[in-house]
Amino acid sequence: MTRLSRRRLLGQAASALALAATPLRAAPPALDIVATTGMIADAARNIGGDLVNVRALMGSGVDPHSYRQTRSDIVALTRADHVLWHGLYLEAQMEDMLLKLSRRGTATPVGEAVPRAQRIAHDEYEGRFDPHVWMAPALWVHVLRAVRDALTTLAPAHADTFAANTDAYLARITQLDIYAQEVLSTVPPASRVLMTAHDAFGYFGRAYGFEVIGVQGISTESEAGLNRIRTLSTLLAERDIRAVFVETSVSDRNMRALAEGAAAQNHEVRIGGSLYSDAMGKPGSYEGTYIGMIDHNVTTIAAALGGQAPERGMDGLLQAGL
Ligand SMILES: [Zn+2]
Repeated sequence: MTRLSRRRLLGQAASALALAATPLRAAPPALDIVATTGMIADAARNIGGDLVNVRALMGSGVDPHSYRQTRSDIVALTRADHVLWHGLYLEAQMEDMLLKLSRRGTATPVGEAVPRAQRIAHDEYEGRFDPHVWMAPALWVHVLRAVRDALTTLAPAHADTFAANTDAYLARITQLDIYAQEVLSTVPPASRVLMTAHDAFGYFGRAYGFEVIGVQGISTESEAGLNRIRTLSTLLAERDIRAVFVETSVSDRNMRALAEGAAAQNHEVRIGGSLYSDAMGKPGSYEGTYIGMIDHNVTTIAAALGGQAPERGMDGLLQAGL
């Protein structure tokens, strides 16, 4: 065999190998994304589709204000291709680690994509803001775009897919916002008072014209004192507020105490339902998605405060009797 033909044969073998390897190369390894909250994980799944593996650190019913990272969380956070966290001091106990990762460029606080002018200032701390921006779908749009941009930076070859997924998802978010406006506008104006376990609904109230009163403050870390419970019980009686709400990620103790306090003043208050404030519902359920979470809240609030809402929500997907 001459040198030339041998080289040719080797060349052919190499291209045969390259051909055999092509199908493997066509499916790139998915990006490993770690999200702190379920809401951010849901955003990453909708925008990243098959191109991302997403893990949420905080599951259903978990309070992000008090959540501390576990040892396995630390491993996941450091090994991920990228970490998407909320910021605005929501993950108060994880702040140091998340800031460190962000300085390294392996984490992004996507909640901080909401422009300053649209944030609600914190009552007690200057330069701090109410972190609960997911409560207003129109604000959540900023966060969705930030998630899209973070994924695009990680995998620029898939920019078109991320952009198309984002546009399709934004159309559903617009529908959700329209549904919320329609249903909540059926609540009689005098009854547009939302009393909940902690101050998570400020953005919701601003978006849909509700006065919002949280028994605890913007964070769940402060305890509500007996005086606060007494004052609010009186307010319920004076303003003839008939329903208050519990939250899936906060103890219902204060809300039950409130209802008892109002009853002692001959004013009957019922628990209007359980709202998803800082965590979504069970994984795999409709309420375990961002859209399902907001649909549930809007539908429950409207029905409990004297408005009209379809029993199973925007798309008929809500579980009955929750
Ligand atoms: Zn909260």
